[in-house]
Amino acid sequence: MNGRVLALSGGVGGAKLALGLARVLDAGQLTVVANTGDDFVHLGLSISPDVDTLVYTLAGLADPERGWGHREETWGFMEALARLGGETWFRLGDRDLAMHVERTHRLAAGEPLSAVTDHVRRCLGIAAAIVPMSDDPVRTRLDTECGRLDFQDYFVRRRCEPVVRGIVYQGAETARPAQAWMQLLADEPLRAVVICPSNPLLSIEPILALPGVRAALAACAAPVIAVSPLIGGQALKGPTARLMRELGEEAGAGGIAHRYAGMIDALLVDAGDMPAARQADIEWIAAPILMDTLRDRELLAGAVLAAADRIAGR
Ligand code: GDP
Ligand code: CA
Repeated sequence: MNGRVLALSGGVGGAKLALGLARVLDAGQLTVVANTGDDFVHLGLSISPDVDTLVYTLAGLADPERGWGHREETWGFMEALARLGGETWFRLGDRDLAMHVERTHRLAAGEPLSAVTDHVRRCLGIAAAIVPMSDDPVRTRLDTECGRLDFQDYFVRRRCEPVVRGIVYQGAETARPAQAWMQLLADEPLRAVVICPSNPLLSIEPILALPGVRAALAACAAPVIAVSPLIGGQALKGPTARLMRELGEEAGAGGIAHRYAGMIDALLVDAGDMPAARQADIEWIAAPILMDTLRDRELLAGAVLAAADRIAGR
């Protein structure tokens, strides 16, 4: 066994645990795979929201209040755009804009997203590797009572209000998972694979939908550990619980366990969420999964690694 840990993550919830892991692991031992199903082109700019949340969080540049975007942000660009009658439903801060401009021109020059992301990571002094799940486009779209909606149209413009009947991950079936993380999964004796407490339907499922990923996780020798994004059947933020209910899934720890069945060895849940009847093929672990402070993030990361090491030692 070496000390390398592979974490699958969306944006805000996933990045909290990714930061905890980055802080308790030795430098360079963490690779975070970022969902890119939320990516889109807006005002001509290539935007990768979950990649950016991970980058800003791991660089210590995330806004602590909003949970997304750059800290000490200013909004001069948005104000000027509004005066010109431009589209302002997706907020782009002045500092954040630099990221999108730099990414857009590098992609246009032929650099793959993984190379652009790695370049940005090095510029910002992040020790962990951040790997977009694929260099090929995957676009999450939602079938709703208002028809099929692009992800950001549903999530930001319509504030997750339309009732969802189904989700498609367009392009996932032909997209190749980025080599940087699939190779780790296949070749390295990893310490653990961690499924962060991200939205299972919008953040983790796009990653799992890529060819070969589910099979690679099921076959992986390292312990695969998931952390529930729900506490008491509620999401801390965002539509996770509602979306699970709308799609006929149990919005609770049991529903999370069910989604990841066959892939995970253990699930960390809030002590109050231990179901009486639980799936026997995974280990259920009660842990403090609420991450308000930096210390909470480190403690949860420690609990995840302890579970992995215990399972690997069996
Ligand atoms: P997004 O891409 O920005 O929507 O973020 P993610 O998909 O990574 O995370 C959204 C999920 O994070 C929601 O389901 C939240 O309930 C969950 N979440 C946010 N904060 C916490 C926390 O402190 N602990 C846990 N366990 N989950 C959290
Ligand atoms: Ca996201």
